[in-house]
Amino acid sequence: MNPVALVSTPWPLFNRPSVQLGALKAFIRQKLPGLEVNTRHFYLGIAEDLGYDLYGQISERTWLAETPYAALLYPDRIDIVERFWRKKALRVPFVNDCDFCALCRALEVSSSSILDQEDWDRYILAGFSICFGQLTSSLYYIREVKKRAPTLKIIVGGSACAGDMGQSLLNCFPEIDFVIRGEGELPLVHLIKSLTGTQGDSRMVSIPGLVSRHNVLPDQEISQISNLDELPVPEYDDYFNQVRSLRTNKTFLPKIPMEISRGCWWRKSVNPEGASGCAFCNLNLQWHGYRAKSLNRTISEIDSLTKKHKILSVSFMDNLLPSKGQKELFEGIKKLKNDFRLFAEIRATTPVETLASMGAAGMHEVQVGIESLSTSLLKKLNKGTSVMDNMEIMKNCETPGLPDLTGNMILNFPLSDNDDIADTIWNLEFARPFRPIKGVPFWLGYGSPVWQMPHAYGLKRVGNHPYYSHLFPPEVLRNLSLIIQGYQGGVRHQNRIWKPVKKKLQEWKTSYYRLHDTPGSGPILSYQDGRDFMIIRHRRNKSNDMTHRLKDTSRKIYLFCQTQRSIAEILARFPGFGEDKVRPFLQMMVDKRLIFSEGDRYLSLAVPISGLLDGITE
Ligand code: SF4
Repeated sequence: MNPVALVSTPWPLFNRPSVQLGALKAFIRQKLPGLEVNTRHFYLGIAEDLGYDLYGQISERTWLAETPYAALLYPDRIDIVERFWRKKALRVPFVNDCDFCALCRALEVSSSSILDQEDWDRYILAGFSICFGQLTSSLYYIREVKKRAPTLKIIVGGSACAGDMGQSLLNCFPEIDFVIRGEGELPLVHLIKSLTGTQGDSRMVSIPGLVSRHNVLPDQEISQISNLDELPVPEYDDYFNQVRSLRTNKTFLPKIPMEISRGCWWRKSVNPEGASGCAFCNLNLQWHGYRAKSLNRTISEIDSLTKKHKILSVSFMDNLLPSKGQKELFEGIKKLKNDFRLFAEIRATTPVETLASMGAAGMHEVQVGIESLSTSLLKKLNKGTSVMDNMEIMKNCETPGLPDLTGNMILNFPLSDNDDIADTIWNLEFARPFRPIKGVPFWLGYGSPVWQMPHAYGLKRVGNHPYYSHLFPPEVLRNLSLIIQGYQGGVRHQNRIWKPVKKKLQEWKTSYYRLHDTPGSGPILSYQDGRDFMIIRHRRNKSNDMTHRLKDTSRKIYLFCQTQRSIAEILARFPGFGEDKVRPFLQMMVDKRLIFSEGDRYLSLAVPISGLLDGITE
């Protein structure tokens, strides 16, 4: 039987294999044991040739990533593309002083050498996984592969092919023969069976989830596996073999990607008739519903992958970790007794007990869906969290031994108003002892709830983002549906009102990292407990530390509020103290920025200097 190639083109992170290719290869080989399946991580070869610094900088910026291969796809438009590149490359390290034409030439030579290592004629099918930032590079490689093997069938899938986007690619690029609309496993195996003649002729057979010029699917039809435990462990051998073949001065230790769920369990409705999930999010277009691997399966998978590849850095690629059993999951991972270095994305409502079990299992960093420091804006984002939740997790992640937090603040979200901005600026002052979050301008994602209901958010003239006009000729672009969408409506107003927040975010970052420029300097706001008294220490820039001593009931209230508490809970816990004493005490602590309050809820902001020694809090 002729082999199948699965390809991932620039610009994913070069230091880990493609989770999509690994999962697909393992599944195909399970269902069709005799078939040779080769996964090709073109992006690693390109990263090796370009240099990891330059590759890394480009891969972190979607518009930069889409630019060089657009010039290779449409060489007669290189001047237009280059002008766009120059604008986007300003002040980007390594990219700023890069000669665009020289870069394109280098990519062309490198790509050609990578492609020529393969005898494309011997393949029956080549599949391209197209996700964020991989559109123009995939289209370029598809064209080049088809030049080398004109009869080879080409299939594309991935998040950039969901919904109408995939159909539009099929319509615009004759080199593409098939598109997978949702999850890849089942349609791909059906197609291979068809092409190898074991299931009829692909042109005649209608395959659920597969779009071809002969098979137009009803809207939304996809085909997916119901139980993720049925998936075999992903196969990353080709990537690790490629890493072993890197030039000596280019070797590095990769990370292992783990996929333990598909979709998102946070699917709260935006409105009764409308879409669900966070208003800005389009991460779940490929999947219907939410599925997760079981606890035991996840633990055995992490064990087998890390043992096999002798790697201890693992990134959970899920949109967010499963809601159920997180604590048990990390307790199970800890029992493997490996010094793991883990990364995962989580929601802000993750309790401190769970963070502690993550930290103990080796979770080094968590990406938390913070998005905003204004509760009114979080409501507009349909995030289902409050600033109090965000503040609590930011504080908890500052505790020694718990994972470091990274997070974003969405700027310029449509419908943000002056009250949201004022709220954000006020709350930012309380967040300053914690790891700064990054301001990220809102972008309109194809398929997101905002995109589905533009009028509800004051948006008009929604369509492909105007930047794409620098990348594609107009006659092509007009027929494409692409993942980053543009719109009109309040753009300038949003830019203007968010300026003070951007300034504050910059100040926060500068002051936080200045206070941490000495290794081991510890949290900015911490406490030491002396059993019937406590000392709170606040480190400050260009000033002496400020210290506060709390005794007896004041200490107890402060420790009780290590987890957010309502005034009713505080009064019930300390009945002898009286509301007339509790409220002024809390207000004094809020005035000193030692406690954060929202409505009638209170949260102490100082973290235990030595970490969580005896359980969580009093
Ligand atoms: S942003 Fe995260 S939590 Fe929100 S809908 Fe998307 S995946 Fe789910």
